[in-house]
Amino acid sequence: MSSSDNNNNNDENDNRMYSENNRLKSFTNWPHNSENISKKEMAKHGFYQLHGHDNNDDLVRCVFCDIHMSGWQSKDDPNVEHQKASPDCLFAKLQKSQMDLTLEEFMTIIYEKNNIKIKRYRETIRENLSENIEKLLAVVEKV
Ligand SMILES: [Zn+2]
Repeated sequence: MSSSDNNNNNDENDNRMYSENNRLKSFTNWPHNSENISKKEMAKHGFYQLHGHDNNDDLVRCVFCDIHMSGWQSKDDPNVEHQKASPDCLFAKLQKSQMDLTLEEFMTIIYEKNNIKIKRYRETIRENLSENIEKLLAVVEKV
């Protein structure tokens, strides 16, 4: 199992993928037959399949938190793996079927998704900044 959080602009796609049915339709070449990680289960847990990413043919993305995950094992529980990889995803945390979400819950999930994005963005900036400071210090020490 591996995961990452690419910061692509997926807003347009997201609007379509908020529909569980559209997510289900995205699994056009899903390599797994296991019940646990069937197309239906994956779509139910917020995932849709991403295509054309260097032979990673089980690469999925959660529309509610932007996490990218691949390397699924037949015994994986999508919700457990989802929460492990993306502990802030409110959709994964609520463990509710999308049909049972209230409008308020749905709106809160989308709101939290933006917070997750901001948090990840901040972390990236912080990492870049400390890397640059280290480089700078190395140069200064040589002077
Ligand atoms: Zn998620």
